[in-house]
Amino acid sequence: MLDIRFEQAPKLKEKPSDDSLSFGKIFTDYMFLMNYTAGRGWHDPRIVPYGPFSIDPACMVFHYAQEMFEGLKAYRAKNGRIQLFRPNKNIERMNNTNRRMCIPEVNPDDVLQAIKALVKVEADWVPHAEGTSLYIRPFIFATDVMLGVHPSKTYLFAIILSPVGSYYAAGINPVKIIVESEYVRAVRGGTGFAKVGGNYAASLIGQEKAEELGYAQVLWLDGIEHKYIDEVGAMNVFFVIDGEVLTPTLENGNILPGVTRASCIEMLRSKGYRVTERKVSIEEVVKAAHSGKLDEAFGSGTAAVVSPIGELNVGGEKLIINKGEIGPISQMLYDNLTGIQWGKIPDTFGWIEPVC
Ligand SMILES: *Cc1c(COP(=O)(O)O)cnc(C)c1O
Repeated sequence: MLDIRFEQAPKLKEKPSDDSLSFGKIFTDYMFLMNYTAGRGWHDPRIVPYGPFSIDPACMVFHYAQEMFEGLKAYRAKNGRIQLFRPNKNIERMNNTNRRMCIPEVNPDDVLQAIKALVKVEADWVPHAEGTSLYIRPFIFATDVMLGVHPSKTYLFAIILSPVGSYYAAGINPVKIIVESEYVRAVRGGTGFAKVGGNYAASLIGQEKAEELGYAQVLWLDGIEHKYIDEVGAMNVFFVIDGEVLTPTLENGNILPGVTRASCIEMLRSKGYRVTERKVSIEEVVKAAHSGKLDEAFGSGTAAVVSPIGELNVGGEKLIINKGEIGPISQMLYDNLTGIQWGKIPDTFGWIEPVC
């Protein structure tokens, strides 16, 4: 159990109206902080007024990017209570990332306690309108003041909160995705499976290229052969081919193991769908599209839950999937996952963690 110190903010912010919310632009009144010092471990857990850090310019994270982050949400259920969706999966992934980045591990119980304590303090910031939520962003960064290339001996762990609007305020609109053939996001042995800012920094150029061409996100191929599908920019990806649901295997360590991905797979299997995790080549997807067997494609992630892909551009060829509309499997997953998250349907999986 953490003994979390609380420091009262002198003045609270005005809360935005639910219909003005977008993603990640507004932050709440408080943040959680905790320090790590080698030899002493994690210490000084505290909830303090949200505000800027004062950090030395030689701080290691600025130069060598030793840092990690997570992303999950608190939902206001129908009965007014506030709940989290599978936070232990995020916390487990956090330590997988930490091990890869030589960041000290965190105690899972302590992190869950910290998240819940902060969300409870900020309960009034969890919006009420349909599809809205409170985004939770835990992150850790190296704080040693030194330019030598070594793992830092000190770290700061922070959790910030941001009320976010409905991803589909204007209805579920399938997105256009373009296959990236020049740049790669991850390679075997690299950091693809870790949730780190560096992966995103390296992906921005592909994202920029895609946006210039009118596409929402990039579909990344494997970094060695440029043949197998890894994932979409910030989402995992699924294809429904001839009735079978396919998603790229996590075995190669190139792909971020999404909590939504795992939940889609479990939900599909519980309803009797055939789901296979294996290598999926882009060629196979193109062939399926040509023979009329590519029924659906969709991305999965915490922000959108399920994001149907209406068009996939493969080397200039535009594959239109399910007439550019959301398909029945995507819709089923969206309805069931969001139903559980917002407490509209019973959680028979044990995925919900109540906060208050
Ligand atoms: C966070 C993330 C995802 C989605 O993971 P969820 O746990 O489902 O939100 C997918 N790909 C990348 C690269 C990510 O960073």
